[in-house]
Amino acid sequence: MNYSSRLTQAVIDLDALVKNYQYIDNLASNSNTIAVIKADAYGHDAAKVARALSAYVNLFAVGFIDEALALRSDGIDNTVLILEGPFKESDFQIAIENNFSLMLHSDYQIEWLSAMSPDFSGDIWLKVDTGMNRLGFHVEQVDDIMLQLTEQQIKKLVLCSHFSTAEQLNSTKPLEQLDKLKKLVSQYDCKFSMANSAGILNWPTSHGDHTRLGLALYGLSPIGESPLSQPLIPVMTLQANIIAIHTVKAGEYVGYGDIWQAQRETIIATVAIGYADGYPRNAKSGTPVFIKGAIAPLVGRVSMDMVTVDITDLTNTDLDNSDISNIIIGDTVELWGKNISIDTVAQNSDTINYELLTRVSKRVPKVIAT
Ligand SMILES: *Cc1c(COP(=O)(O)O)cnc(C)c1O
Repeated sequence: MNYSSRLTQAVIDLDALVKNYQYIDNLASNSNTIAVIKADAYGHDAAKVARALSAYVNLFAVGFIDEALALRSDGIDNTVLILEGPFKESDFQIAIENNFSLMLHSDYQIEWLSAMSPDFSGDIWLKVDTGMNRLGFHVEQVDDIMLQLTEQQIKKLVLCSHFSTAEQLNSTKPLEQLDKLKKLVSQYDCKFSMANSAGILNWPTSHGDHTRLGLALYGLSPIGESPLSQPLIPVMTLQANIIAIHTVKAGEYVGYGDIWQAQRETIIATVAIGYADGYPRNAKSGTPVFIKGAIAPLVGRVSMDMVTVDITDLTNTDLDNSDISNIIIGDTVELWGKNISIDTVAQNSDTINYELLTRVSKRVPKVIAT
């Protein structure tokens, strides 16, 4: 059933997506740019994103095999890199059958490789821990791991690591991490991959053979306002419609918990999006939304299905006759996108753009911009 009565949508601009990919791919022109589309392409709909990029990208990356199999069901046949590697021994068989490359980070995965498919012919990506202390082999372990790989596997090996502070331009740690990885790379004479979006933008010497482009692909910057991130175009516009307009007297409260009180007679627009859709419940009063070319502040608590917005200053209304002429029921409200930076919403909700994007819920249709 495709009927949708509610107009709440995440509109996905695939032209912007392709432009972002090409712009970043050019910034790291000696590297292969992997498009990271885990978590349903950061909430943008992995099938749509992969289809739009498949002609430009030769390698997609996802978190785990389930996500890669979903791409195959959607008809995507590019090679897919599994960033967390196999969770089960049988994942190797699936990887062989489906042309998935596996990132291996722990002994148990190497044991599965030796036991299950010593001749595994897919590319092997070995994750080395250079300071994130989350995933990967210690530098000292790498020698021992190499002994367990076949000559053919070593030939196709990519050594990888992950930055913990790549978005901090004055941190010395990124280059220390890169140094550790590059020592191994020259020792084994193999390919390497280090850079995520912040690495690509901030640390050009980290580009290596493959960059792993996530957030910036979607037009957002992991590093705030940077000249390099200026040409990026936000791919997602989260929008919803006004379903009610009320006039509230000075002194009255709006929404759950009575946390916001009208200081003047106020016109409130109620918009059909809430925390069940992924709009953050802790967005503060004052968080901007965009309606008909103007900015208006969110007021009161975000509900499950609705938010309330103070549109008093957007109406040319003489409050005495309460004729709300400019803004009407059904008008579209942008919660974030090209007019409202998702970073502003994130700052107002004590989170980051990554989390907001990936938490847009299933209830919100992802619609391709026309
Ligand atoms: C998610 C992920 C990336 C992409 O990171 P961004 O900051 O979104 O560019 C790169 N590498 C690994 C291992 C990841 O898990």
